[in-house]
Amino acid sequence: MVWGVRFVEREPAGAWADDAACRGKSGVVFFSDRRTPRGKAEVAEAKKVCEGCTVRRECLELAVHNGERFGVWGGYAFPMAAITRRRLGVG
Ligand code: SF4
Repeated sequence: MVWGVRFVEREPAGAWADDAACRGKSGVVFFSDRRTPRGKAEVAEAKKVCEGCTVRRECLELAVHNGERFGVWGGYAFPMAAITRRRLGVG
């Protein structure tokens, strides 16, 4: 993301961040505004990157744990907190 791996510059994410498919990619598309046609396309692009990521679960767990309110994490465009919490069995 703006970042090599979005998490690395924000906070330590653990060794799994080395395997993140977004590593080395621009973070812009992961934080696009879905209310615009361009933003919608960029979010779709971000989700596509996540599709091939082997650490989606870890990413999603971290995002839920951190209470992320915006952005694409683990293949989900937040805000989807309720859905992701249910999916992770933590709420
Ligand atoms: S799931 Fe998506 S945002 Fe999370 S580490 Fe993988 S590629 Fe990056």
